[in-house]
Amino acid sequence: MCGIVGYVGEKNATPILINALKKLEYRGYDSAGIAVLGNDGIIVRKAKGAIKYLVEKITGEVVKDSKNLSKEECEKAEAEYERQIEKTADFVKGNIGIGHTRWATHGEPSDINAHPHTNVSGTIAVVHNGIIENYAKIKNWLQSQGVVFKSQTDTEVVAHLINYYYEQKKDIFYAVLQALKKLEGSYALGVVCKDFPDRVIAARKDCPLIVGVGNGENFIASDVPAILEYTREVHYLEQKEVAVLYADHVDLFNEDGEKIIRKPSHVEWDLSAAKKDGYAHFMLKEIHEQPKALTDTLRPRLVIENNVPVDIKFDEFDFDENWKNAGRIVITACGTASYAGMVGRYAFEKFARIPVVVDAASEFRYRNPILKKDDIFIVISQSGETADTLEALRIAKKCGAKVIAITNTVGSSVSREADRIIYTWAGPEIAVASTKAYTTQLMCLYLLAIKMGEVRGTIAKDDYLRLLKQLEEIPEKAKRIVENQPVIQKFASEQFNKAKIFYIGRLFDSASSMECALKLKEVSYMHSEAFAAGELKHGPIALVDNSTLVVALATEPALYEKIASNILEVKARGAATLVITQDCSGAFKNCADTTIQIPECENDLASIISVIPAQLFAYYCAVQKGLNPDMPRNLAKSVTVE
Ligand code: GLU
Repeated sequence: MCGIVGYVGEKNATPILINALKKLEYRGYDSAGIAVLGNDGIIVRKAKGAIKYLVEKITGEVVKDSKNLSKEECEKAEAEYERQIEKTADFVKGNIGIGHTRWATHGEPSDINAHPHTNVSGTIAVVHNGIIENYAKIKNWLQSQGVVFKSQTDTEVVAHLINYYYEQKKDIFYAVLQALKKLEGSYALGVVCKDFPDRVIAARKDCPLIVGVGNGENFIASDVPAILEYTREVHYLEQKEVAVLYADHVDLFNEDGEKIIRKPSHVEWDLSAAKKDGYAHFMLKEIHEQPKALTDTLRPRLVIENNVPVDIKFDEFDFDENWKNAGRIVITACGTASYAGMVGRYAFEKFARIPVVVDAASEFRYRNPILKKDDIFIVISQSGETADTLEALRIAKKCGAKVIAITNTVGSSVSREADRIIYTWAGPEIAVASTKAYTTQLMCLYLLAIKMGEVRGTIAKDDYLRLLKQLEEIPEKAKRIVENQPVIQKFASEQFNKAKIFYIGRLFDSASSMECALKLKEVSYMHSEAFAAGELKHGPIALVDNSTLVVALATEPALYEKIASNILEVKARGAATLVITQDCSGAFKNCADTTIQIPECENDLASIISVIPAQLFAYYCAVQKGLNPDMPRNLAKSVTVE
């Protein structure tokens, strides 16, 4: 959600800022802007809509739309766009700057509300991610001092407040520190000041911000892909830290302005992570990366002897008495991660025979939650920056719970604040709709549940070894599903005009159905819902008619007959039907219109792969509708506001 970038160095900042913003487009935004500090002071350019409109505004040239062009024409248009971005350097000159892609929270998306925002004289410019909760109070006070506001944003108060303190001492560092003390809410900030033309100041609280340390140039960014092209040495700013970046060095400070000495961390991601590598979209690339991501997540945790997996071991922690004697597991997350938690619930109950509560983090945090001493508390967040999840984590810690985090992002807030971390080694996920992060979250939850079952004695040794063997085979099975893509693509081309899509399933499959329905909503905007199959008759079947597609997930043989009955019931009411199953016996042959076969695997583990056809279906429905699945409307990748 929202992207911040900043540059200080020898080069012209403008194209660097715009290219870095483009690398953060995946986070979701509605307007973009830059402020560059040159010989004539601060130049601000901003525009509502895509980054290309900002480029158009700067160069005065139209950027060609690459939609509906042939591959060749599209490549030509992209090369031309790159040239136009480089050309921005001729119009906005300066070696220091900040940039922003906004995801509006206060005030509509518009040129005026786009960031950067400045003080009245235009000598201080600010970009901000987050929400200033006490902005109204500060705004009233500043207005009473005669300050005239231009925008409706909460952010503008930050520029004027910094200016207020700047007037006291003419010291920008002092002014920023003082202003931060007055702000309530969340922020990642980038600040430049005309009178200090050698530095960018950055600060964060509850929103992500990193500092990239380069050679004779330094950067700020909301996320690593923005700066990977220039450096892999980064400082992950801690809560309330402030960084001052010069071309040749970076100083870090705590909120009181005391210097902090810390070495930067090295980022392992390779540059191709931020490129599409020949795939039409990041979403498709990431669906295809699942076999590798699952292997990378699983392998370090499997103990192999004589080529056979014999145990699960997390380097991150031991399965101590707490796990053996735990009374309950509480899983808290948002969106896709919460659906991973729902599948996790079935896994923990099945393998470890322990009760599980799964809660949306946004609900948990406001509910005065009841946590017991012997509860195990798990949060799940791809980005590790999800505001609601982070707050739930903090509440759980305050209640005395030991928090385990499952996250994909090393150095994220969640990873820093949790007691124990299990990383999903999915690599960077750029597409807004989560795919490989979800399946690797499932892998982690299964590993935990199965190991817990072994520790608590609820899984017999033979079953334990069989499950490990089966887990080891999952990535290969995922690969076979991904290779079956043409079948799903064809099915999507026949169904993408359906008015309603219902996913149904029982047990594990009912949990997976929720993620399948969400994926379709997110990228194709088709109305999709998930129901526990047994619930159909209790209401939802009233919606079924011939504009409906019902997709049944069926991976539990003991319930095939029940699912087959559900299929016949909706078919009798005009629905088209699809079954995604590992059944080879023909259980659905005479009922479903179409069957998508997934490779046979242990029933209770099938959820890790049964979602993949639904991911591909969602992707191809979006493509059929002419939508860009990587950037669904209204959505942001990492939801850093509540
Ligand atoms: N709250 C700010 C605004 O609405 C910043 C939003 C963002 O994080 O992009 O302008």
